[in-house]
Amino acid sequence: TMSCLTAIDAGDPLNAFVHKTPEIALEQARAADARLASGDAPAMCGIPLGIKDLFCTKGVASQAASNILKGFKPEYESTVTTKLFDAGAVMLGKLNMDEFAMGSSNETSCYGDVVNPWKVDERRLTPGGSSGGSASAVAADLCLGATGTDTGGSIRQPAAFTGIVGIKPTYGRVSRWGVVAFASSLDQAGPMTKSVRDAAIFLGAMSGHDPKDSTSAELAVPDFEAALTGDIRGKKIGIPREYRMDGMPDEIEALWAKGREMLKDAGAEIVDISLPHTKYALPAYYVIAPAEASSNLARYDGVRYGHRARLAQGDGITEMYEKTRAEGFGKEVQRRVMIGTYVLSAGFYDAYYNRARKVRALIKRDFELAFADGIDAILTPATPSSAFGLGEMASADPVQMYLNDVFTVTVNLAGLPGVSVPVGLDAKGLPLGLQLIGRPWEEGDLLNHAHVLE
Ligand code: GLN
Repeated sequence: TMSCLTAIDAGDPLNAFVHKTPEIALEQARAADARLASGDAPAMCGIPLGIKDLFCTKGVASQAASNILKGFKPEYESTVTTKLFDAGAVMLGKLNMDEFAMGSSNETSCYGDVVNPWKVDERRLTPGGSSGGSASAVAADLCLGATGTDTGGSIRQPAAFTGIVGIKPTYGRVSRWGVVAFASSLDQAGPMTKSVRDAAIFLGAMSGHDPKDSTSAELAVPDFEAALTGDIRGKKIGIPREYRMDGMPDEIEALWAKGREMLKDAGAEIVDISLPHTKYALPAYYVIAPAEASSNLARYDGVRYGHRARLAQGDGITEMYEKTRAEGFGKEVQRRVMIGTYVLSAGFYDAYYNRARKVRALIKRDFELAFADGIDAILTPATPSSAFGLGEMASADPVQMYLNDVFTVTVNLAGLPGVSVPVGLDAKGLPLGLQLIGRPWEEGDLLNHAHVLE
């Protein structure tokens, strides 16, 4: 804990930590020492973690990197952080992210950009997003692990850009209670770590049924670490042909081939499969996620939380809402609220939102059919490129940024577990990741496959 606290101060230029909580960390570390000394050491005892700013932490600023939540200090602790603390973990502070987890580059944060610790020349690179602070902090050894959340790739894409491991569990494995909602039917929290083994231990500590989240599953949490045998002989790995995108860089193609070879060498069988509705995933996601976001973000009205605009003489409640939301939400969040409101509006609901829901069901069925055919895990690239420069994508065209999520959103739409593992470097020396997609509730088996790729 002490060496992490020192590293965090030295790591300030990365802008990963937005609130440091050294007093809490030291108190928790002392308690962990006492537990260790008494021989009662739970799974995460004394492990120093960073917590994404999307998690509500009692008495500690929790702003989802948004100005609209300025000054918000929850009076409660999220289920995930409660479980982690019960398991002995130590909180070093809160981590930067894209505002309300909307973004793929950590450039929409009210706290400013996060810098990737990986460098090739003088350019400052993005760590990806939205869990960019979590990824940078773990990659730069400012903490031993960090919580992330993943609605369309926000754990897996930043993990790939920074050379670490990140898993989005099956929808319902981890409680969403106390995690600021973006798109509730897609959101899922998960660990971001240096190794698959760390991810298995961390995931075990944060998982489990929670009566406070009606979508959390009433299932026992298996021992994920025990599943890491490295034995995948006879397993069937699907290679979905629809993920071979036009214009895919050669090095991504080569990385994918390397992953296939590694799994084959470990005794798995490689099978070509088809997930025919893949090409509709990105448009469906960018209808459903904003629709749910527009509904979830309606609560930020200047009354209940954080920021309230200064009003002029004669302003009524409508002006209060308008001014507060115009000042408090950044551009990307406003764009999502507008798209979401539009696709849910009476005249367009069937054409957009309902259509996207149908597409989502088809995407889910593609996966179900593949698993019914005996496929154990599906291997794809995690991202279409390595980390890009800060400022390079945040251009006038948001769709360019959305294309980053092309390999990751299908997993959220289908509610499946997906893991990103670092498998190599590109020609510039930057990390690249592969994604493995698993059967629902089989995170242990999925992590075992990922372990083979480490
Ligand atoms: N990049 C995607 C988006 O902006 C995913 C974000 C996420 O997973 N939270 O919606």
